[in-house]
Amino acid sequence: MTGPLHLRGIALPAEEAVEFWIRDGLLTDEPVPGAATVVDGGWLVPGLVDAHTHPGAEQPGDPLDADLLRRHGREHLAAGVTLLRVPGSADRLPGWFGTEPDLPRVVSAGRWLGLPGMFYDGWVRHVGEAELADAAVEETLASGAWCKIYADWVVDEAGLDGPRLPADRLAEATRRVHAVGGRVAVHAQTAEGARVAVEAGVDSLEHGLGLEAALLDRMAAQGTALVPTFTVWRTFERVARASRSARFRDWFRTAHARLGPLVSAAYEAGVTVLAGTDSYGTPVLPHGCVSGEVRHLAAAPMPAEAAIGAASWTARSFLGFPLLKPGAAADVVAYHQDPRTDLRVLEHPARVIHRGRVVR
Ligand SMILES: [Zn+2]
Repeated sequence: MTGPLHLRGIALPAEEAVEFWIRDGLLTDEPVPGAATVVDGGWLVPGLVDAHTHPGAEQPGDPLDADLLRRHGREHLAAGVTLLRVPGSADRLPGWFGTEPDLPRVVSAGRWLGLPGMFYDGWVRHVGEAELADAAVEETLASGAWCKIYADWVVDEAGLDGPRLPADRLAEATRRVHAVGGRVAVHAQTAEGARVAVEAGVDSLEHGLGLEAALLDRMAAQGTALVPTFTVWRTFERVARASRSARFRDWFRTAHARLGPLVSAAYEAGVTVLAGTDSYGTPVLPHGCVSGEVRHLAAAPMPAEAAIGAASWTARSFLGFPLLKPGAAADVVAYHQDPRTDLRVLEHPARVIHRGRVVR
């Protein structure tokens, strides 16, 4: 459909009856003659967001691939995910990814940054402690938005004693990135990693498995978001259980078991909790599954409405994108039923409108 469009329904989160026309990719409340009605009733949600996804390379160490980027972006969009935050990728993302009409909008973080021994060779940009701040600024300026830093890396027993990012280095990198107008996402799976991230005042804590509840008030006060990525841990559970190391199995079981209560407490403390899948596009971690993460958040538990917000309005606001109002970009997902009463509704959008065009 190429002409002007028209839609009406109940807009969330305000829960108010709205009627919009779409002109030049933007929502307007002024009737546009001849507009085709593409949504007539139901619930309207600002375009969904996967706040932690890695399109473009599926296997650890593989280079960024343009065809995969395109395919992965479309998989997200078909599910109503109109905005991605990509906290690290095998290479800096090309400018067309995030701007072409049939791909989601993208907020990226340049290449993953970590100390030697962290994350996967070929994917991460390994830097020494002394180079971290410079590299963080470089990746931020390249992405125009964020950088992504590893505070720790634990996928086996060796990781439990592996390198840790010193607090003063992360604090310095964070200050430097903030000084150029960027934001910092930090990967942390240990109590120590989460603590240095919170104390450095980073903008988002990714995973947060070992996060101490005592730090939640500080996160809320300074605006550090939590992106727990339940989806990837559900997958990783099988890997952890198969480990020969009892120490590692115990560590993961304990950390995983407390993640739900921790997220619940974070929400109650006023921390911004966001939905991120950590998807790579593999059969076990496919793209376009943020609705599953919403269900995990709700099971933490979090109120269903807040869990949806974590994958829509809350995430959009956190990333600086508008909600449903005149003048805003027409990125809208419509549902026949109220998704707050049954989260499975999120898997079946009645319409996906992106950049003012009907995608689905
Ligand atoms: Zn990730």
